[in-house]
Amino acid sequence: MARYAGPVCRLCRREGVKLYLKGERCYTGKCAIDRRAYAPGQHGAARRKMSEYALHLREKQKARRIYGVLERQFRRYVGMAERAHGVTGEALLQTLERRLDNIVYRLGFAASRAEARMMVTHGHFTVNGRKVNIPSYLVRPGDEVAVREKSRSLPRFQENVAQSAGRVLPEWLSTDREAMRGTMLRLPTRDEIDVPIKEHLIVEHYSR
Ligand code: SF4
Repeated sequence: MARYAGPVCRLCRREGVKLYLKGERCYTGKCAIDRRAYAPGQHGAARRKMSEYALHLREKQKARRIYGVLERQFRRYVGMAERAHGVTGEALLQTLERRLDNIVYRLGFAASRAEARMMVTHGHFTVNGRKVNIPSYLVRPGDEVAVREKSRSLPRFQENVAQSAGRVLPEWLSTDREAMRGTMLRLPTRDEIDVPIKEHLIVEHYSR
């Protein structure tokens, strides 16, 4: 299946929550959820009772859309989480958080995960000094992610770093914004992952 290329605010309206897919616009009054907080389409405003299956499905779709992951890759992450020690739902979120595009976004080098994905694909980042252009690359505790030296002066990076100065950096990451690099200190715990997802519903969805 191809990657979704339609209007992304529609995805937030479908899920009924802000998924923060558009960077700075999500924090302004232009946010579509603030203006039209109902599902898109002719019958979007109608209230409908969801089946149990639909509840599980929506939770899975929400997670996929937040992290920009296709179904096949997502299913692979669920399999990895099931084989990991500990709570499966938490392991799934930890894996999603370890993606290089997510780490770049969390460190404040990109305004959204979609932009981070594009920047990684264009080869602007290194992990432990080596160029990595795979957005799904899984960063490990202790790894250092940095903007490549020749990319640091690009206006977009300067803007993003300046705008992210007010953002709270998760405790499981450390950053040196001036030097445009950051380190993953450890795996995040569930309460440090600020995404509106009920991960146990996703696990139930795949165990049906
Ligand atoms: Fe979602 Fe951002 Fe669009 Fe608001 S502006 S609907 S949070 S993508």
